[in-house]
Amino acid sequence: MKRLGKVFVMTLIVLSFMAAMPSIRGITQSFRENVNPEDRIEDRNKENEGSTSSDEGIKEDPKEEKEIDAKDEEDLSKDNSEQKEQVPPIEKERDSKSESDKTIFLTFDDGPSTLTPEILRILAENDVKATFFTIGKSVEKYPEIVKQTYKEGHMVLPHTYSHEYSIYTTLETYYEDLELAKSAIEKVLNIELPYIFRFAGGSSNESSFKYGGKQYMPKLTEDVKAKGYYYIDWNVSSGDASADYDNKEKMLHNVIEGTKNKNFVVALFHDTARNTKMAEALEEMIISLKGQGYTFRTFRDITQEELDTMVKLKISNKPIKR
Ligand SMILES: [Zn+2]
Repeated sequence: MKRLGKVFVMTLIVLSFMAAMPSIRGITQSFRENVNPEDRIEDRNKENEGSTSSDEGIKEDPKEEKEIDAKDEEDLSKDNSEQKEQVPPIEKERDSKSESDKTIFLTFDDGPSTLTPEILRILAENDVKATFFTIGKSVEKYPEIVKQTYKEGHMVLPHTYSHEYSIYTTLETYYEDLELAKSAIEKVLNIELPYIFRFAGGSSNESSFKYGGKQYMPKLTEDVKAKGYYYIDWNVSSGDASADYDNKEKMLHNVIEGTKNKNFVVALFHDTARNTKMAEALEEMIISLKGQGYTFRTFRDITQEELDTMVKLKISNKPIKR
């Protein structure tokens, strides 16, 4: 009888242990997920990097188009595969604000172009302001569009003057390009710009390897920070500089899924002439984002607190280590 009791107790222990197994596994897993937030941020950055390097300039000059498209595609395949593999870590990216307090900055790169007025029309109709990281050469080509953009309450900031990756050869060649990009806007708008810009290809671009080597961006990013600049990347990409640029549904999905569970978003778009499908999807994206409770913000009236949040989330001044 005693023995039978022992067996019974043992069986109970084994059974309860087995029942507890999934939750034990769950705890270890969530512990592992929480234990190293840096790693999780790194993961996100890797994904970021993928889309970053796809941020190629889409030129309207047919001579330049071919070379850039080829590069685009090469970077794109990487972008896609990384996006598929990585489940974006979410919780840790949230800032301390409450659930209902959601902020989004829509950013449009590589314009102005013949598409920009259409983007402006959609933004105006939906009462949304955005930020345009422009190409200096195109600012000189379309000054009236730049004036209209600013007049309608959006912000216009430098991206690059030429969008050639040879700007990443020496620090001098970089600053020469940035100054040209900056002064092109300042001349057209007759304003003094804040120290905010976006790197051609983003801060973690690999296109610079060919010119300045692998240690070039780590050095340049430190240097621009020391000069008081904020360089801005993004944490959601519409994919409109990728092979998805013609796929409305995919771009919608990229934006809706990308913003899910994020309280603070800088979203990447490109107002290049070819991106008519993005323009077609834009209103639906905005309606959905409004439905998610986002407030639309721009770099025109950005607060120090918002800039600090961007740095904290590594959307701005992300340290580049290689
Ligand atoms: Zn660009």
